[in-house]
Amino acid sequence: MDVAQIYSTAEEASRHWKSLSIQGRLTYFRSFQKVLADRAEDLSEILQHTTGKPAFEALTAEILTVLTTISYWEREGARQLLPAKTRTPLLFWGRRSWIEYHPMGVVLIIAPWNYPLQLTLIPALSALLAGNAVILKPSEVTSELDGYLEKLFAEAGFPAGLVQIVSGDGEVGAALVQGDPDLIFFTGSVATGRKIQQASANKLIPTILELGGKDPLIILEDAPLERAVQGALWGSFTNCGQVCLGTERIYVQEQIYGDFLERFLQEAQQVTLGTMTWTHQVQVVKDQVADAIAKGARLVLGDDPQTWDSDSLQIKPLVLVDVHGGMNIATQESFGPVVSITPFSSDEEVIRLANATAYGLGASVWSQDLVRARSIASRLEAGNISINDTMITVANPHLPFGGVKNSGLGAYHGPEGLRVFCTTRAVMESKGRARSELNWFPYTSEKEALIRALVKNVYGSQRRWWKVIPKALIPPLWWPKKD
Ligand code: NAD
Repeated sequence: MDVAQIYSTAEEASRHWKSLSIQGRLTYFRSFQKVLADRAEDLSEILQHTTGKPAFEALTAEILTVLTTISYWEREGARQLLPAKTRTPLLFWGRRSWIEYHPMGVVLIIAPWNYPLQLTLIPALSALLAGNAVILKPSEVTSELDGYLEKLFAEAGFPAGLVQIVSGDGEVGAALVQGDPDLIFFTGSVATGRKIQQASANKLIPTILELGGKDPLIILEDAPLERAVQGALWGSFTNCGQVCLGTERIYVQEQIYGDFLERFLQEAQQVTLGTMTWTHQVQVVKDQVADAIAKGARLVLGDDPQTWDSDSLQIKPLVLVDVHGGMNIATQESFGPVVSITPFSSDEEVIRLANATAYGLGASVWSQDLVRARSIASRLEAGNISINDTMITVANPHLPFGGVKNSGLGAYHGPEGLRVFCTTRAVMESKGRARSELNWFPYTSEKEALIRALVKNVYGSQRRWWKVIPKALIPPLWWPKKD
């Protein structure tokens, strides 16, 4: 791999691309959307084959998500990227101010394997619409898909070299990081995120980090129980639990704990999951469940890890109770079809429990009392909150997506989702008619007195701005006398 060549190809391609208008760029997006929709059938099959997820999930969480996001950009893209006029304080009378959004240049995108379409395409397309060239390194775990991604961009007619897909593992990713990116957009684990952040600090370039989670789901005693059971099941087990926003901890108010647990276990036995994506992740889940059992947790649904077939990717739903803070599963991300269920007695207690991990990606609260649910939600340390729903914010392109605490830095999607791939430029324009400005040389005693009067009368305890502002706005009143 010739890293320098990859970056110079990207820079070359970005020169023409950034000169296109937003509407000009959007024409490529419309054809990309058509190509993606027309290929949805075989693409969902490939995704199913590559990741083990059911075709239904490939269609909804991967393909549809990208399609709806492109439609969102068609409506909102220009508003986010065209120069934005802003207000100018009265003291700068006569000037205009605006903000411009310029492409960064070359954006390096490094992606994980759990949603290999959505988590490669949405950041790549965001960076492209903002006028950048893209170097995309998908996960080695789903490398079967790389050629297909290339084909999608080529069929949509994107210029050669604008999107380069570089296949490979972490070493390839690390080598690309050491190249010459202007921004790194990374989705993956906290451990790799830290390495990327350290490398970027040396280069003094920005990063956006979308990292792991340990999401709590909180069920209050007045929750719509049937819906909460169904929502918690889906949150815990969709994509075989390999979801950054997946439910990993369920907290149920003690009055309904027994009822909820019984219904949840009954329903969980009926759910048919796809398979997990790779044996490495099965091993993570296996070790965490074994550690929890050894430390006193009870496995109330699923097979004891000791009986698992070592090569199998087919894991049935696992439910643990009596999980406590000393177990790895209480604080580390599981990223598999396992969930713990714990009773709580008060709002204060559940808020403390929910916030007791280093992660802060998502959380949900279930109650018919929306005032109470919102009040609990506002005290949860998470970037994405759902009320009587789960994981839903990520599917609404109008909302930002990002984590707090160890779950990430920065966000994309939503009103700022394209601007984060830009540099901002502040511009102020004067017609240039006045011969000098109040704050310029020379610092005469007359000007100084006027500034002192401004401070006192505009911001002091007795505000009489009308006494000084007009004087400050009429330059001849303070212009120094000419010799
Ligand atoms: P990972 O960190 O192991 O790998 C992610 C990507 O980084 C891969 O492409 C990998 O090849 C590359 N990589 C590995 N080492 C690297 C290095 N030193 N330098 C540069 N690149 C390197 O993560 P993963 O196992 O692929 O993904 C699972 C993780 O991703 C979970 O923690 C999950 O929660 C997280 N995730 C987060 C989000 C989100 O939006 N917040 C979404 C999906 C997944």
